[in-house]
Amino acid sequence: MSIKNHYYYDEKNCEFVPIEYNRIEQVVYNLSIWILSGVVLTGIGIILLSTYIGTPAELALKAENDVLYSQLEETKSSLIALDDQIKEIAEKDNEVYRSVLGMEKISYEERQAGIGGTDPYSEFDVYNEPTTELLKWTASKIDNLERKIGIQKLSFEEIKQQYNNNKERMSNIPAIKPTAGILLSGFGMRNHPILKYPRPHNGLDFRADIGDAVLTTGDGVIKYAGRQSTLGLIVIVDHGFGYETLYAHLSGFAKGIKKGAKVSRGQQIAMAGDSGLSEGPHLHYEVHYKGQPVDPIYYLFADTSPEEYALFKEISETNKNSLD
Ligand SMILES: [Zn+2]
Repeated sequence: MSIKNHYYYDEKNCEFVPIEYNRIEQVVYNLSIWILSGVVLTGIGIILLSTYIGTPAELALKAENDVLYSQLEETKSSLIALDDQIKEIAEKDNEVYRSVLGMEKISYEERQAGIGGTDPYSEFDVYNEPTTELLKWTASKIDNLERKIGIQKLSFEEIKQQYNNNKERMSNIPAIKPTAGILLSGFGMRNHPILKYPRPHNGLDFRADIGDAVLTTGDGVIKYAGRQSTLGLIVIVDHGFGYETLYAHLSGFAKGIKKGAKVSRGQQIAMAGDSGLSEGPHLHYEVHYKGQPVDPIYYLFADTSPEEYALFKEISETNKNSLD
């Protein structure tokens, strides 16, 4: 717009006459128009930006919020993984330590030991729904894990006490691997390698070559060392307290191993082989409690690391074939 276009009405002559501004007035007028336009446009811009995008402070907060939220999501995954690990420890606690020591198992409900009353996390209700949910979940999971760890600690204390009170029994109970090789097949229904149909596999199969050392897994007395049809050459050790172990498909007995001989845990009693109905050289190992075969995987605790135990359990559960 230009001030040259401004007119006034001359009543005397009945006509529009252009207004004549002097130079300074023109400059001031032009300048003020530009400044005013600038201010108005900037104002509109700021309003638009802060309404639809946010102020710089808000943008920084939003970025921070996004980072915190994704961090919280990651924490959630970590907590789930931790919970799984604690569950595994609890299972081993029940199935291995407490069972072997003749202690009552701790039930799932006892391990949960929930907190009652009103919602203890209602302080998070002020946020939007996904955030509130995530915050409540994380807080309650952490509380839950703390309780489970507390209960587990108490259980280990009890186990230690029980172990100290039962040292004699402890040296007799089968508690180590009977040979150095890795586990090949587990306990339960398995496809027989030679008979080619599923039947109960009452023990574990360990990798072993002919002549490899076979160790007794607890203190005891030799109950039998000889031949037994499909199992080939076997040794049975009576450990007292209701426990017996059986070692099969052997190729020979260690010196002095005969009925009535006393043996102590870790002592070599035989050599591995493939006698009897067997797929190839390996060691078949059974644990019997009160006359019934039980899963020997729960009796490897003295020399098995948690990682090795987890690996054995996986092999035991996934391999559907035995070497018998
Ligand atoms: Zn077997």
